[in-house]
Amino acid sequence: MLGELLQNSKAYKDFRKDMSADKISHAYLFLGEDALARREYMRLFASTVLCSRGGCGECDTCDKIYNDCHLGVHYYNFDGKMNVREAEALIEESYKSSWEASDKHSENSSGGAGKKIYFIDNAERLTPAVQNKLLKVFEEPPKDVIIALFAKSTYGILQTIKSRAKLNYLPTFTAEDIHNALVGEGYPRAQAEIASALSGGSFEKAYAFVQDENYYNQYSECFEVLKNCKKSTMVVEYINKPLFSKDNIRRTLEFFEIILRDVAVKVSGAKIPYITRNRDYDIAKISEGYTTASVAMAILEVNRGEAMLDSYISNVSVAERVLFKILEAKYKWQ
Ligand SMILES: [Zn+2]
Repeated sequence: MLGELLQNSKAYKDFRKDMSADKISHAYLFLGEDALARREYMRLFASTVLCSRGGCGECDTCDKIYNDCHLGVHYYNFDGKMNVREAEALIEESYKSSWEASDKHSENSSGGAGKKIYFIDNAERLTPAVQNKLLKVFEEPPKDVIIALFAKSTYGILQTIKSRAKLNYLPTFTAEDIHNALVGEGYPRAQAEIASALSGGSFEKAYAFVQDENYYNQYSECFEVLKNCKKSTMVVEYINKPLFSKDNIRRTLEFFEIILRDVAVKVSGAKIPYITRNRDYDIAKISEGYTTASVAMAILEVNRGEAMLDSYISNVSVAERVLFKILEAKYKWQ
């Protein structure tokens, strides 16, 4: 699914145009927030270059690439900790003759045969020392070598590198794209709905959500708290729940914000679709007693709570404050 979305992206279409015009650059810089999309794009890129049928997805070459064991494809820096020694090893390797010399069994015989591809992920986290080392490959590209950097943004990448690499943007995805992909892969609809709504368009986040079984329960409990916490005397009973534990509070506040945003949509009567799905009843229930001003205030207090967590205020204090402030907003702004 993700593969299909990438194949339909502008980045890929532009790259294919380069390919068919025989204008492949020796250096690329791809920008994309989503780590999973970056990883998948690397495979797509490699198979397009190396497969004699332009990335058929079925041949021996494609098979090796998708199993991460093709001798011509090298991956670096998934952990963001690439050091100078590794950069030196990359350079040394890249100047050796092509991989075909040692892979005689390969059936590959097209234009891409023998090309070597070096993918470096998290390029924005490479130290200047490592980047300066790598510069050699950008300035004097070895024959049949493509070096492709992948980064979240260009911030942190040296100008000397940027100016020598062809810049391209990976696509961003909608909640709908992600929802369809997850359902297509057999995830339960309810889970797919939440994960896609909360993913912010990131497959990486969406998968983290669907693979965590506690996630759904936590999400549901957030609705319960917002529906039922009506008096300040009830706050004490809530703040010691697992929902507000050190490990969970951040996500709880994220959920509060999402739910309250839909409450804001409800009370304002705006014609905007909810972020939450199939929760119209809950949203209507929570909306009782809110005005547009009070829900705006409540959201602001949730954001303040998130900021307080960053400044090392205890989870219990933050939970207490947020719940009180939400109640206060409700009564003050009626
Ligand atoms: Zn193929």
